[in-house]
Formats: sequence, C-alpha cells, structure tokens
Amino acid sequence: MYLVLFDVDGTLVDSQHMIVAAMNRAFAAVGRAAPSRAETLSVVGLSLAEAMTRLAGPDVGANAVDTLAHAYKTAYFDLRRSGGDQEPLYPGARAALDALAARDDVLLGLATGKSHRGIRAVLDLHDLNGRFVTIQCADDHPSKPHPAMVLAALAETGVAPERAVILGDTTFDVTMGRSAGIVALGVAWGYHAVEDLAAAGAETVLADYADLMPALARRFAW
Ligand SMILES: [Mg+2]
Repeated sequence: MYLVLFDVDGTLVDSQHMIVAAMNRAFAAVGRAAPSRAETLSVVGLSLAEAMTRLAGPDVGANAVDTLAHAYKTAYFDLRRSGGDQEPLYPGARAALDALAARDDVLLGLATGKSHRGIRAVLDLHDLNGRFVTIQCADDHPSKPHPAMVLAALAETGVAPERAVILGDTTFDVTMGRSAGIVALGVAWGYHAVEDLAAAGAETVLADYADLMPALARRFAW
C-alpha cells in the first residue's frame, strides 16, 4: 500500500481569507496591532500556540498566547458560521482525490495544524468524510515541523516510509516529511514561496493539481 498525506490549509483548501480575518480579530481582542497579511500567512500550518508566539514576538507571555489562540478560534468559528464559500477547495483538488481513490493500493490521510473541530468543518463542507483513513492534527501532536504527525500516520496505516509522501504548501510540511523519512512534494498554490519549499527539501513543487498523479507515478513507478 501507498500513503498520500495532505496538508489542509493552503494545500487542499484556500483558507487565507478566513485566517487573516480571524487573526485580525484575535489581535484586536487583546488590543495589539495585527500582524501583516504576509506575516500571518507565513505561520499558517503551525499549531496555533506556536503561530501566535511567532506573530506576537518573543516577549509575549504564555497567558497572552492562550488569550490570542482562544480569540482566534472564536473568531474563526464565528466567521465560518456566517456562511459563504470561505474555505474553497483548490482547483483540481477533488479530481485528484478521486483519481487517487480509484486506485486500490493508495490510502489517503491528513496532517494539519487545524483542530479536530476545524477538520470536521472542512470535511463536512466539501462532503469529504470517509476519504481519509488517517487524520493527524494539532490537538494531538507537537506543531509541525515535528515529525510526529507523519510518524503516527505511518504507524496507523502500516505503510512503509518509502511508500509514503506528504503534499504541502509550507516548509513546515516539507521539513516534517523529511524528518519522518518520507518524500515531500511542495505545492506552488499555497502560502510559502516555491524556492523555500525546494530549499527545504521538496522533491518537486507542483504547479497545479494536474501535476500530482504524474509526480506520484514517477516517484513510485506506477
Ligand atoms: Mg498548509
């Protein structure tokens, strides 16, 4: 069996508008100046506490980090409840998932800085429940780029590292995958620069989802 792990934000769904809006609300809630859009997008994929620490600066205390994280979660939840197509799938994502699901030797999984609640919302929104046999998230693991999420996904599925890949838009995904001993494929449509993904060790950086199956076919000699 093969395992294809997907990051979520910036890889499967384009959640940047929600993330930036929620971040602005969170910082406003604690009376701090909001980070720039670029600063916010640079930390997407990290666990919330880690992201907040980076954005608020090294002098921020643990209490402020907790308050920011709580305010962010509340804001995100409220934004999501307000409706609209706020976390759309990237073009070609569904077709790629369908093509992979059509193979009986491929398992799909998620490794994400989202919470359990956030993942449930995305799966419900896009009718993707049941697609992913292993789901690893920030609630249960140290933040990316720690390899824990990938190692847990390999253990849960029993897939050998050399038959697994992670697809992600950030250097956190690439470093996590490499640290866990699997191949990392970068994606050019997310929140980190292509050259940074390559420098972190991505085997290739996909220009769009149509590149995924050919990249996997090359890697695994399908
Ligand atoms: Mg991401």
